[in-house]
Amino acid sequence: MSSSLLPTYARAKLAFERGEGAWLISTAGERFLDFGAGIAVSSLGHNHPHLVKALTAQARKLWHVSNLFEIPQAELLGRRLAEASFADFVFFTNSGTEAIEGAIKTARKYHFVSGHPEKFRIVTMQGAFHGRTLAAVTAGGNPKYLEGFGPKLEGFDQVPFADLAALRAAIGPQTGAILIEAIQGEGGIRAIPLAHLKAIRQLCDEHGLLLILDEVQTGMGRTGKLFAYEHAGITPDIMALAKGLGGGFPLGAFLVTAEAGKGMSVGTHGTTFGGNPLATSAGNAVLDVILGDGFLGHVAAMGKRLKQGLIELKDRNPGLIAEIRGEGLLLGIAARVPVQDFVAAALAEKLVLIPAADNVARLLPPLIVGEAEVDEALRRLEATAARVAGKALSHERVAE
Ligand SMILES: *Cc1c(COP(=O)(O)O)cnc(C)c1O
Repeated sequence: MSSSLLPTYARAKLAFERGEGAWLISTAGERFLDFGAGIAVSSLGHNHPHLVKALTAQARKLWHVSNLFEIPQAELLGRRLAEASFADFVFFTNSGTEAIEGAIKTARKYHFVSGHPEKFRIVTMQGAFHGRTLAAVTAGGNPKYLEGFGPKLEGFDQVPFADLAALRAAIGPQTGAILIEAIQGEGGIRAIPLAHLKAIRQLCDEHGLLLILDEVQTGMGRTGKLFAYEHAGITPDIMALAKGLGGGFPLGAFLVTAEAGKGMSVGTHGTTFGGNPLATSAGNAVLDVILGDGFLGHVAAMGKRLKQGLIELKDRNPGLIAEIRGEGLLLGIAARVPVQDFVAAALAEKLVLIPAADNVARLLPPLIVGEAEVDEALRRLEATAARVAGKALSHERVAE
């Protein structure tokens, strides 16, 4: 049967009916180990009892009221996020790209109210991904996502990845902010060295620039710390969150210091859905678990176990795997075969992975993943490698 969905995705011929923790059950009744988590979204796995309870309880009370009224659930989540981070204020959105959009607007408005309306330009990094709105695709700079959509938005200057000299050179009298991912997710799990992050913070301070961190993928515990910036011992001025924030319920946010947010007064920004009672109830329930005793330690420990196993897998398959990347449960296998083949082979082993740029297969399991599941994923990856190697061999034979 043909689909009525606009064909912007090349979908696998596979649908899921339900999920349990780190497992997905297909409509055909087959069990898949979910190391994609809906692209780093289902941070507590599927059907988490605490999340289900919070969401169903709220669903029976009130779903939506608009931001013309106080929303106690959003107040609570905002306060908790501010207390757990560098931020003083939080604005809730429905997605990551909206969070980025709000972050960009906030940075521009900051310089405007500081008497420098000319400082609207933002420096970004090659390989970045910030979402799909016009501002976000311009910031991301991927030509594939820009082609055909009219003139690029004015005000973004892109520099090569992790090139401090180029970054310094790109700062001019109109520069107002630097926007980066501490670890590029869609870009292929490429981490900016921690020393660079520190230097970038320093550059921002020297030039009066705002540091905007896109933690849409790295945030909410994914790297083993609540936020990836903690690894570098720095703080941003503005940060975008989404993906894991709602545990599968659409929820994003941008967080700001009081100083960086000083231009965002009544009427300067808005959203109909953002921060509604249902979404922020989900967010609070997610945070209950992530901030629970030992939870982030568990993420770090599972990340270490998985990464160690991946490194051993790479050592056994040097012709197939070039590199293992990432931190916590944000890991990548840089493949020497087309990544689509690798991900398809994993799926045939009933292991869900997510492809990224730079020929990388991402492993983004739910943060609640256990030791047995990590070990099972490693076994399935071993089988995946054998499958891909077998195929590669048979290709060669055909080529001969
Ligand atoms: C996914 C992602 C976005 C965009 O989020 P959406 O919810 O798809 O709009 C932005 N930045 C990063 C780093 C992401 O990984």
